[in-house]
Amino acid sequence: MNYAVVLAGGKGKRFGSGNISKQFVELTGIPMIVYSLLTAEKNTNIHEICVVVAEKEEKNIRRWAEKYNITKLKYFAHPGKERQQSVYSGLKAIAANARDTVMIMTSVCPFVSQETMNKHYEMIVSYDASITVVKATDAITFSNDGERVNRTLQKKKLYLQQGPQLYRYGILMMGHKVYMEDEEYRKMDVTEDSELVLNIGVECCMVKGDRFCIKITYPEDLAIAESLHPLFEEKERKYYDAQHHS
Ligand code: C5P
Repeated sequence: MNYAVVLAGGKGKRFGSGNISKQFVELTGIPMIVYSLLTAEKNTNIHEICVVVAEKEEKNIRRWAEKYNITKLKYFAHPGKERQQSVYSGLKAIAANARDTVMIMTSVCPFVSQETMNKHYEMIVSYDASITVVKATDAITFSNDGERVNRTLQKKKLYLQQGPQLYRYGILMMGHKVYMEDEEYRKMDVTEDSELVLNIGVECCMVKGDRFCIKITYPEDLAIAESLHPLFEEKERKYYDAQHHS
């Protein structure tokens, strides 16, 4: 079985949308999370979807699932304080087998292409973990104190991490358990699942994403997303046609 866990437990404080979290803000008249649900629904590899969301939002999600015909939605899980805990909560809710796969998706990256999704399922045959990346186009500077530069990293070897990510269920579960049980490691405050599986010695591969897959963090990102939307739709249409007429 192939599961998708859609994370929607964040508060989105940097977005500043008051009482309504950014993942529920409308983009082209549709709640942002619906984009992620539709991406998982349309992907032929995915069998079942779990949404990690505050209990009080479940009613809305069910309503949207009905309205937008999301038939794969099967589970809800409650978020934790940090993203890591929300992922773990979702993993527990689906109770899958070790060799099953779990795709970790956010609800704040509305334009994930089917091509990217499918590439992950091709790679999982050879790897137990894969993340989506794009090449960094700006240099990245590392600073310990937020004031002085410690290192400016070499752009040529840097990639920016996007969503989604795909893991064998047993591998990701083990990565989380080792993290939770190791007090010293926990102090490092790891936020990425890929770090957790690398820590247990699992090779993780990179799937090249595209520049449509922006993450909505600040209000101006929403304006960018509104203008990207028609271009993304066109790209998806072309991909669909190429898949079905070849
Ligand atoms: O905070 P950030 O923008 O990195 O969140 C990425 C995703 O993780 C979002 O979809 C957010 O709703 C989710 N999240 C969560 N539980 C948390 C924090 C974030 O499900 N405690």
